[in-house]
Amino acid sequence: MESHMTIARPLPDYLVKRYHGWKATSYAENSAWYRKLADDGQHPRAMVISCCDSRVHVTSIFGADPGEFFIHRNIANLVPPYAPDGNQHGTSAAIEYAVTALKVPHLIVIGHSSCGGVRGCFDMCEGHAPALEEKSSFVGRWMDLLRPGYARLPEGTEAERVAALEKQAVLVSLENLMSFPYVKEAVEEGKLTLHGLWTDIGAGGLECYDSDRGDFVPV
Ligand SMILES: [Zn+2]
Repeated sequence: MESHMTIARPLPDYLVKRYHGWKATSYAENSAWYRKLADDGQHPRAMVISCCDSRVHVTSIFGADPGEFFIHRNIANLVPPYAPDGNQHGTSAAIEYAVTALKVPHLIVIGHSSCGGVRGCFDMCEGHAPALEEKSSFVGRWMDLLRPGYARLPEGTEAERVAALEKQAVLVSLENLMSFPYVKEAVEEGKLTLHGLWTDIGAGGLECYDSDRGDFVPV
């Protein structure tokens, strides 16, 4: 225990400065709101599942305040199938809590352009990424979740197919969400709405999956 405790070091100066700046400005101006959040508990308007990618900034895109979004991030914004096997499932735990305890009315899966995880999956499926095929690769085994999306990619240039796979990551996740019995039930009872988005980071674009058209359309 003791040896482990020695590995934690003080924050770098720039983060200490930023924290004190936030405390003196954003927090100071909204301290009553923060105290209310602490006292009342959270009642988020939506759960968001996004990629870990540092460029995907959900709270900026939607101008979100603290308490509005219950956010879960993982590599390539993927939802695994419902698998109550007694093992440790972080993404499934977040979904279970958001839907059964917080009872969020909206669940948004947002994919993005230039996704490194999706690119890795594409290369692996094309046979060009042997390291990702190793059993010991957590990224590779996680990206196996997207293989069904690769299997239904349309013809096209490599860039078009990779972009299509980024959108498949959203669709596969929505399909897998419906394998969770409490998600399916809440959707069928009209208490929960699922949404599939994809954002173009460079262009600041946002597209939403339209199930009538079977495609993503600009918001
Ligand atoms: Zn990504």
